Amino acid sequence: MTPHSWLCSDALLVPMDGPPEQPLGFVRRGSLRITGDRIAALGELAPLPGESVVSMHGALLLPGFVQGHVHATQTLFRGLADDLPLLPWLQQRIWPLEHAHDAESTRTSADLTMAELLAGGTTTVQTMESVRHAEQTCDSALAHGLVAIVANCLMDQSGPGVPEGLPSSARENLATTEALWRTYHGRDGRLCTAVAPRFLLSVSADLAHAAVAFAAASGLRIHSHAGEHPDEVALVRQQFGRDYLEVLHDQGWLGPRTSLAHCVHTTARERHLLAATDTAVLHCPSTNCKLGSGIAPIVDYLQRGVRVALGADGAPCNNRLSQLAELRQMALLQALASGPGALPAARALWLATRGGAAALGLDHLVGSLRPGLRADCAVFDLGDPRLGGADGAAGVPSQLVYAADERHLRHVLVGGRFAVRDGQPVGFDWRELRARAAAVLPAVLQRAGLAR
Ligand SMILES: [Zn+2]
Repeated sequence: MTPHSWLCSDALLVPMDGPPEQPLGFVRRGSLRITGDRIAALGELAPLPGESVVSMHGALLLPGFVQGHVHATQTLFRGLADDLPLLPWLQQRIWPLEHAHDAESTRTSADLTMAELLAGGTTTVQTMESVRHAEQTCDSALAHGLVAIVANCLMDQSGPGVPEGLPSSARENLATTEALWRTYHGRDGRLCTAVAPRFLLSVSADLAHAAVAFAAASGLRIHSHAGEHPDEVALVRQQFGRDYLEVLHDQGWLGPRTSLAHCVHTTARERHLLAATDTAVLHCPSTNCKLGSGIAPIVDYLQRGVRVALGADGAPCNNRLSQLAELRQMALLQALASGPGALPAARALWLATRGGAAALGLDHLVGSLRPGLRADCAVFDLGDPRLGGADGAAGVPSQLVYAADERHLRHVLVGGRFAVRDGQPVGFDWRELRARAAAVLPAVLQRAGLAR
C-alpha cells in the first residue's frame, strides 16, 4: 500500500540544518510534503494529484523539540517534593514515592508525561524510569507517537532514605534491562531502550561494571546523572578519593553512546574527559535552580565540542515539562554566567532540537526538517504582538527563546499525524488524565508513608 501523502502548506519553515554559525539553516516560506510518517520534501511545492493540503497560514514550522532528560515515572509526584536540595529530595520523597508505584500508577504517570510533552511541542524524549514498571512507559510512548529512549534505572545500594526493597540485586536489575531491550528496542522504528545506572552513589562497582559490559554487548546507550549538587560531589570525593567523572571514566561509563544529566560541578580535568570521550551532557536548568544545585558551564562545554541536550528532568524538581521554559531558563542562566551573547538564542534553539537529537544519537531520525526524517514538527503562531515586531527569519530565535510560551503553539505533528491541532489535544484528554491521576495517587501516598 502506498503511504498517505499530504502537504503542510504556507509555513515559515525552519529546517534547523545549518552549520553552527547559522544553525537554523535557510528559513523560508514554503510547504512540507509528508508521506507516511516521514518528510518527503520541503520548499516551494505544488500539491500532487489527489494530495490533500492543510494550510499553516504563515505560522512557523520547526522540528519537534527533543528533551534529553526526563523521569516520566515521577510526573505523578509533581508538587509533592518542593523546596528541598537534591539528597533530601531523593531520600524523603522521591525514593519512597517511586518504590510505592505499581504498574497502573506508573502508566498514569507516563501518560501524563507524554501528553504534557506533546502539548509543549516535545516529540522526542529520553526518560529514566524507576527500578520497576518501565514497560508501562514504553507502552505509553508507543501509544502517544513520540520517539523515546526509555530505561529502568539501576540501583543496588541501600543507604539513608532508600526504602527496603527499592534497590535490587545487580542480576535482577540487569535482567529487567535485558527484558526491556528484547521486548521494546526498535519497536515501530522509534522506541529505544537504554542502560541507566541511576547515579554513582546508588550503584555498586560490580553493578557498574556489569551495566557497562551489557551496554557494550547490546549496543545500547548509557543514561545517568553526574555532578549535580555540591553535597553529592563531596560525597563522591569522600567515598572514592577522586573526582566524579574520573571515577566514571575508570569504571568505563564514558563514551559516545553515554549521556549524563547535569554535570553542573566539574573540574577542568573532568571537562576534558567529557570532550575526549565524546560523552554528552543533558542540561536541566530549571531543576538546577530549584534544587539549588548551581549553573552548568554549558558555554564551556560547547566550546570544547561536548554535545549538549536540554531537558526538564522530573516534574517534582521543575515543576514543568516545558522545553520552551527550559530554553528561556538556559539562555538567561548562561547570560548570567558567561555574559550576554555567549549562548546566542539561535544556538539555544538548535540545542533544543537538532543538537539534542545529536546528543542522543538520534539525528538520523529527528531534530531537523530533512527528507527522510520523521515528520515530527511544532508549529507556532508568532503573530502575537507580545512577541515583538521582528518577525520573519531574523526574529525567530528571539521570539521563541525569550518570549513565546505554550499559548503560541498551534499544532504538533508526530509521525505526520496531529497530536495537537489548533491548540487542542488529539488522542489524549486532560480531564480523563486528571481523573486517573486522582484515582491512583492516594494509594501511592499511603504505600509511601506520605499520606496527608
Ligand atoms: Zn534526573
